[in-house]
Amino acid sequence: MTEGESRLKSGIPALDVVEFAVAEMESSGLYVAGKGSAPNTAGYVELDASIMAGPTREAGAVAAIVGVVNPVSVARGVMERTPHVMLAGQGALAFAREQSYELVDGPDEYYVLPVGVYEDEIYEQKHGTVGAVALDTSGKLAAATSTGGTFGKLEGRVGDSPLIGPGTWADDGIAISFTGIGEHIIRSGGAIAIAHKVAGGATVADAIQSVLDEINKLGGDAGVIVVTRDAQIAMVYNSDGMKRASVSSTSPVRVATFESWSGN
Ligand code: ASP
Repeated sequence: MTEGESRLKSGIPALDVVEFAVAEMESSGLYVAGKGSAPNTAGYVELDASIMAGPTREAGAVAAIVGVVNPVSVARGVMERTPHVMLAGQGALAFAREQSYELVDGPDEYYVLPVGVYEDEIYEQKHGTVGAVALDTSGKLAAATSTGGTFGKLEGRVGDSPLIGPGTWADDGIAISFTGIGEHIIRSGGAIAIAHKVAGGATVADAIQSVLDEINKLGGDAGVIVVTRDAQIAMVYNSDGMKRASVSSTSPVRVATFESWSGN
């Protein structure tokens, strides 16, 4: 958190900061993303990630990619070095190899289940996606999301996290990253539904609540992190809890798992 803060303070662009923050979480093994991911039902780890730059709406994503250390960085590579928004599966890995992104050396040794939880529940839909949103000193917004997906997912299953729209969204007014069971988030519209409501005049709190209510009606729960061009920060969930942290030039670092907040 503090590293992200000092990067933003020193004028580093939001896009670099969200990539950095998500890559750190991917490499930590503490979350269900990157190193902390669990295998699909076929026994191997497939990862999803996406990144979006607010001002230009440039976006990149990888889906069901195997064997890369930082999927979020490969997603950024897709954005900056190809004419495409998303690469999936073998093609995504071939791109990562060709562009010399770091590859996992020995998946059996590399991947760890995050901090000893979940082992006895692996085939329930457990999950633990990571995301970051940022507003930089030049007023630009960016968002990024990365996940190992839901535990016990079928081979080839892709959730909301790599989807520009449901899982990740950034434009010139808002940056958003979602977490929760992807199937419900996709069917609710997710991040872009919030962005459209706010652009249409809804408050951030109301826009988030109506999409979370929609997800609830579809039988799911979810959480979302949001920052707006006028520096409103919202971190709201209707699940049991959501690990999260925020900092701004006017508010100190806040870290929490329970109790949602929405404000500056
Ligand atoms: N949204 C992710 C997925 O469905 C899971 C999560 O948020 O933890 O793949």
